[in-house]
Amino acid sequence: MSGAGLVVRDLSVGYGPVRALRRVSLEVPEGAVVTVLGANGAGKSTLLRAISRTLSFHGGAVTGGTVTLDGRRLDRLSPDRVVAAGVCQVPEGRRVFARMKVADNLRAGALGGSGSGRSAALARVHELFPVLAERAGQRAGLLSGGEQQMLAVARALMATPRVLLLDEPSLGLAPLMARRIADTVREINTQGTSVLLVEQNAALALRLATRAYVLEVGEVTLSGPAAELSASDEVRRRYLGVVDEDAAADAEQATDRTLTRWEG
Ligand code: ATP
Repeated sequence: MSGAGLVVRDLSVGYGPVRALRRVSLEVPEGAVVTVLGANGAGKSTLLRAISRTLSFHGGAVTGGTVTLDGRRLDRLSPDRVVAAGVCQVPEGRRVFARMKVADNLRAGALGGSGSGRSAALARVHELFPVLAERAGQRAGLLSGGEQQMLAVARALMATPRVLLLDEPSLGLAPLMARRIADTVREINTQGTSVLLVEQNAALALRLATRAYVLEVGEVTLSGPAAELSASDEVRRRYLGVVDEDAAADAEQATDRTLTRWEG
């Protein structure tokens, strides 16, 4: 491991007696999109919470390992210091302040930033999501699900992070809206922000990412270039819903043989 970018090394996490992550290691190199795939309960959200130091709000704690950004330890910082260090999480479930105006939601994301930095961040966010400029005075709770997801991402961007942690941004969205969110993630990355993306939509995630990790019951069981993982039978079968053609053909032949014996 090189030590540049975001580096997670041997990270273990527990919720009381429940061990949710076991010695998980991964890297998000500067400028990359990296994805973590895994079934429900594999530990994906836990991983993001451990990086953003928000685990304690969920009753969890890191029991071992380190998280660094360009060699600087993040795993001893408070959540706000992690944001200040350049790592910002968009939690699962498009959490927005529903009763607050769109503009105030964005302002909340920029708390602590300087005046000029805030204006530049707001201009970038409005360019990425013009609808948030159009609806600036509206309550966030009145936005559609997709627009609320945009607002959740935009609020995180207001802190001008170097690394964006995205937890299932396409969850519950119609395919068209999910694609729009994916396009935006690509655009955000092109503008220089690294992305660690947790997604249940593996097809979408593998198209966006350069590198992917598979998490199973709290452990990394597979990792490699996204293109390689997309082509692997295991990932195709388990996460892309592709039937293994060879195995299917073998099963069909075996059934044919059995039927022939019966009929004979
Ligand atoms: P999903 O896709 O369903 O969100 P996930 O891969 O993000 O799943 P986590 O939510 O990180 O998985 O959960 C990992 C493990 O930790 C699971 O066994 C889960 O039951 C447990 N867990 C998660 N949150 C808590 C919590 N607040 N308290 C106790 N156990 C928890």
